[in-house]
Amino acid sequence: MGKWRKAVLSGVMAASVLAVPLSVYEAPIAAKAATQALDNKVVQKIDAEKIYQHVSALSVGIGERVTGSEAERKAVDYIAAQYRSYGLDVNIQPFTFQTYEEAKEISIQIAGHSGKGLEPSVFKYSPNTPAEGATGEIMDAGLGRASDFAGKDAAGKIALIERGGITFAEKAANAAAAGAKAVLIYNNTTGPLKSSLPSSGNYVATLGLTKTEGEALKALIEKEQTVTATVKVLGGGMVTKTSHNVVAVKKAHKNHDTGQILYVGSHHDSVPGSPGASDNASGVAVNLEIARVLSSQQTDTEVRFLTFGAEEIGLLGSYHYVSTLTKEEIDRSIGMFNFDMVGSKNAGDMIMFTVDGERNVVTNTGASASSRVFKPLTYGKVGRSDHQPFHEGGIAAAVFSYAPLEPEYHQPTDTIDKISKEKMENMAKVVGAGVYQIARKDTPALERAQVAPKPAEPPFEERPL
Ligand SMILES: [Zn+2]
Repeated sequence: MGKWRKAVLSGVMAASVLAVPLSVYEAPIAAKAATQALDNKVVQKIDAEKIYQHVSALSVGIGERVTGSEAERKAVDYIAAQYRSYGLDVNIQPFTFQTYEEAKEISIQIAGHSGKGLEPSVFKYSPNTPAEGATGEIMDAGLGRASDFAGKDAAGKIALIERGGITFAEKAANAAAAGAKAVLIYNNTTGPLKSSLPSSGNYVATLGLTKTEGEALKALIEKEQTVTATVKVLGGGMVTKTSHNVVAVKKAHKNHDTGQILYVGSHHDSVPGSPGASDNASGVAVNLEIARVLSSQQTDTEVRFLTFGAEEIGLLGSYHYVSTLTKEEIDRSIGMFNFDMVGSKNAGDMIMFTVDGERNVVTNTGASASSRVFKPLTYGKVGRSDHQPFHEGGIAAAVFSYAPLEPEYHQPTDTIDKISKEKMENMAKVVGAGVYQIARKDTPALERAQVAPKPAEPPFEERPL
């Protein structure tokens, strides 16, 4: 077997020198048939029903899986249990992050008045007031410009400011700098006023009012001269939360260990308000199915199956994971296959994306595997998913997805009825065959470095994942 493989290797070497870089590499027929027989050890075991069941468990059974939430943790436990059932070594890796939590109690009480009718909103990133509230005289501070505070004593008062002219942040900062205890900004058009301050800076509690409310308060000040109010913003602010990655390791065979590491990754969190069936229960489901099928195959390469938390708020889980790798592990790492949004029947064609738009061992492997088990894939340039931290860490990486993007992306409509079993099955076959091609014993080195075709006209656009 070893010698026969070596003969194939020299054939591949000769042909690859002659191959035109822009065409899909075609192996000699005998070699191709042998590779396909090996592909079948994985491809024929891929079970679309099992993949679909994972999407159902994650997107229907659990539903939206917002970073740091109880539901995200349930998804982590579900995923870990699946990996364990395949006999993999599973580790749940926690990490913390800072996030803003909206205030739980918001109120404005006007002394001598019921306060009824005032329905303030709180600005995102508003500081809290003291527990007893911020009490002070309401002052009309115009548009909240520095000139509106000049020569006036705003210390200890509550600044009433009209929307317009300058930014909300400038108004709030000017009021705080003048010594105001709290800021009420009222709208200059119909509807409630709900906005955000910058996430850091010197601010005091800042609330939004409607135009009607603001004008009524202004009229009250003119009528009564001194109007005292107590503003409460309680229970909000930056909090530290915990999210988790799931790390499942399939070790190399102890007598056939190249020392190399491959990664298969997908994020398991979803955006608020969306059950995230395609984004990214589908990617996790395909990841799990490849793990199930590969777990019964002998490999000479360590394969780490990973699912990440906190992708949707800035790739936090994958950045954290890469930060835990030692230099020695990174040196042994040959590639990372990432799945993001691989299930919508409303998305376009299968494609690979790299951070720099250049091919690498992952796209080359994907291109050659896809030409054997599906149809030849092309690749493009997109970061902003979990392949990015690996790329930045010096590990060849690509995200496998479909383009153009589905219309239900990040919407409440990203539900299981939009899911295509066929799209997920094809993805599992392509990447399963590609990973196995590298990870199986005695793969000729050159088979790991075939050439992916470069698309002449990219059939995709830069987009988030
Ligand atoms: Zn995603």
